[in-house]
Amino acid sequence: MRIYLETMGCQMNRLDSELLTGVLRAAGHEMVADPRQAEVLLYNTCSVRQHAEDKVHSRLGPDLRRKADSHRPILVGVLGCMAQRLGSLLPARYTGLDLVAGPGQLAHIPAMIAQAAAGKPAFALDGADCAEDFDAIDLARDASFAPQRSQAFVRITRGCNKRCAYCVVPAVRGPEVSRRPEHIVEEVRRLIDAGRSQITLLGQTVNSYRWAEAGRTVRFSDLLAMVSGVPGLRRLRFVTSHPIDFGDDVLAAMRDLPNVCPYIHLPAQSGSDAVLKRMDRRYTRSQYDELVDRCRRIVPGVVLAGDFIVGFPGETDADQAASAELIRHSAYKNCFVFKYSPREGTAAAQMPDDVSPTVKRQRNHELLAVQREVGLAHHAGYVGRELEVLTEGPSRRVDKQARLPQPGRMQLVGRTVGDHIVVFDGPIDLAGQYVRVRITGATSLTLFGQRCDD
Ligand code: SF4
Repeated sequence: MRIYLETMGCQMNRLDSELLTGVLRAAGHEMVADPRQAEVLLYNTCSVRQHAEDKVHSRLGPDLRRKADSHRPILVGVLGCMAQRLGSLLPARYTGLDLVAGPGQLAHIPAMIAQAAAGKPAFALDGADCAEDFDAIDLARDASFAPQRSQAFVRITRGCNKRCAYCVVPAVRGPEVSRRPEHIVEEVRRLIDAGRSQITLLGQTVNSYRWAEAGRTVRFSDLLAMVSGVPGLRRLRFVTSHPIDFGDDVLAAMRDLPNVCPYIHLPAQSGSDAVLKRMDRRYTRSQYDELVDRCRRIVPGVVLAGDFIVGFPGETDADQAASAELIRHSAYKNCFVFKYSPREGTAAAQMPDDVSPTVKRQRNHELLAVQREVGLAHHAGYVGRELEVLTEGPSRRVDKQARLPQPGRMQLVGRTVGDHIVVFDGPIDLAGQYVRVRITGATSLTLFGQRCDD
């Protein structure tokens, strides 16, 4: 059948969709980019923010109307976190919905499509036994299927054992389960053999990875050492880390293993002890500051990125000032700032959402302005240096194309080991290759440069 799959949400969802695409193709289905040509419409959904769920709701109404009016059969399905969170509420609200599947059910989607095509709606939510399933779908991955030519994501854990007050992830993705290290190494080996040179290990709290079996314990730092030894692996990254799981062993591994990139995405969420406590983040401001200093001391040239939530219940102007101060102290390369919105079923949803939308917006702008200053100073420090860049492809800023003299050349974009975005001119066939770029300019988010051998 012709299948249209749309992905909302985080990197974990995008990896789920990549794995599911492989499963569907192996089952003989054809993936199409235009929903109007599809016989099956699937939405792989996110529940973390209301905005993502609203987007799915806005798709389902028109899709189901089209299905009712169409002379040919169309199947419509919701997969992932939103399907798991809302469960039977979805078919109750949307008559004609054919498929609802939790994030641990991806291996069963071909069978569920077959069942729905035979006229019997298929519903499967995750239970306690889906850990095995999720490892199976990762292991069965088609390494030759590559949305990105030179890089791939590899899941090492599923779910989360933290209970941050604002977050729905533990409820929808379940408790944390680590994959067997040998399975991870084998998957990385197959991806490298199929042409990738950069691997990003993925987990909700990736650095809390732990595999224990028959007296043997493999910590995250041990896993980094095992994976980094795969021949041909040029860059090893990982996201996302939780501050309380950062032991010196991980930092020492980052320092000592030459292909582990010196980049850490380290969400802080707030710079105020009072807010961190209400968020149940399990660290204080001074512990976070100490961790940042320790990262810089142990891993030379480490690059940090942050996450913040503004307008959490009870947040005051003084709390906001503490967050701004933390951004300055951490000297992040970049930082994501989100406006708080309550999510049903979380502890924070029981607290009064007492910061007005106007103040949330104002605080969002304020923190982004501070980050722009900090980010500009960070990026300006690279001007004049020569950096290795993995070329990703054409830059989204195509405005310069017309001014480029030679045919076949365009504005390209790539990343450094520190995850800096670098824009430079060159032929399109550099995509997927490593080049040396001399940095000539910087903004708060981007470096600009010239290829050294150009
Ligand atoms: S660490 Fe906190 S924010 Fe991250 S997934 Fe777990 S509960 Fe959610």
